[in-house]
Amino acid sequence: MNLEDISTTKSLLSIPQNIVIVPHKNPDGDAIGSCLALYIFLKEMGQNCSVISPNDYPKFLKWMPQNEAILNYEKSQSKCKQLLDDATLIFTLDFNDFSRTGTLGNELQQSKAEFIMIDHHQQPSDYAKVTYSDVSMSSTCEMVYNFILFLDGGDKITKSIATNLYTGIMTDTGSFKYRSTSSQTHRIVADLIDKGAENMEIHQQVFDTNSPSRLHLLGVALKNMVILKEFRTAYITLSQEELDANHFKKGDTEGFVNYGLTLEGIVLAVIFIENKEEGIIKMSFRSVGDFSVNEFARNHFNGGGHTNAAGGRSDESLEKTVAKFNAVLTEYKNQLSS
Ligand code: 5GP
Ligand code: MN
Repeated sequence: MNLEDISTTKSLLSIPQNIVIVPHKNPDGDAIGSCLALYIFLKEMGQNCSVISPNDYPKFLKWMPQNEAILNYEKSQSKCKQLLDDATLIFTLDFNDFSRTGTLGNELQQSKAEFIMIDHHQQPSDYAKVTYSDVSMSSTCEMVYNFILFLDGGDKITKSIATNLYTGIMTDTGSFKYRSTSSQTHRIVADLIDKGAENMEIHQQVFDTNSPSRLHLLGVALKNMVILKEFRTAYITLSQEELDANHFKKGDTEGFVNYGLTLEGIVLAVIFIENKEEGIIKMSFRSVGDFSVNEFARNHFNGGGHTNAAGGRSDESLEKTVAKFNAVLTEYKNQLSS
C-alpha cells in the first residue's frame, strides 16, 4: 500500500461507516480468515461492520473465531441486501473482480459505497477507491496483517485476530511450503503465534477432521487419476454420481488436486468436479514452475487465479470438458515438456 492509499484509508475510517466485508464465492481459509480478522479489528475500532459470504463454506472452517457473525447471502438475502444498501464502505477480500462473488456481484456493481480491495490474485479490476493488490503475497491474510500495521493497529491484534490470520496463511501456503511463502511470511506467522494463535490446534481443526466418506471419496479420485506422461500432466475426474455415492459435503474435495503434483515429473495437475445442481464442471488447476495456470484457466476455462494455482468452470458435460482439456493441452506440449 502506498502512502496515499494509507492516508485515504485512514481518513475513510476516521468517521463512522457502515462497513460490509465480502469474500469470494466458495470461500476458503484465506477468504474467511481475512474477513473475520478485519471484521474483529474494525469492530474494535468502533465501526459498524458485517461480513457477507456469497454462499456457504466447509465445516472445517466453521470453528474460526467470530464465524457466527458471517451472513450467507444465499440464505439471508433480504438482510444482506439491506446491509449492502446501507453500506458506505465495502471491503472485498481475496478476490479482485465482482464476477468472483456470483449473483452477489450484481449488488456490488450497483452499490454507491466506496470500495477497498485487499487481494493477491493476478489482473485486478478497477473498482476500488483503494486497491491494495500484491501478487507476491502468500495470502490475503498476510496482507490484512500488513493493513492493520499500516493503520498503526499492531497492538490491537488479539488472539482471535491472530488465529484467523494464521489459519488463512496456513491454508493458502499449503502449510508454509508454496513458493509465495517468504521469510517475511514466517516472521508474521511467528508474531501471530506470539499473539496467541495456537498453531498445532489450528492445524488439527482444519486438516484432522476428516470423515470416513471423505477418505473413501479420495480413494475414488486417486483411482480415477489419468497420467499424461508426454504432457507431464495428471488429472482427476469426479462425477456427481461418485460424489453422491460417497456422501459428498462441501469442502470434501479440498486438496485432492495436489496429489497429481506429488508424482515425479508432473508439472500440471487438474481436477474436474461435476456439479449437477449448478450445471457446471468446477476445475482446479495446480502447477509447479513457470507454467501459468492463471493464463491457462483464463484463456480456456472462464477462470483465473495465480501462476501456480487457479480455478475455472465449464458449462459442458464432464466428458466434453475433459475432451476439450485434452485438445487444448496439445497447444501447450512444448511449454509443458520444456
Ligand atoms: P481453487 O482451485 O482452490 O478453487 O482455486 C485456486 C485459486 O484460484 C484460488 O486463489 C482461487 O481464488 C482462484 N480461483 C478459483 N476459481 C476461480 C475462478 O473461477 N476465477 C478466478 N479468477 N479465480 C479463481
Ligand atoms: Mn487467497
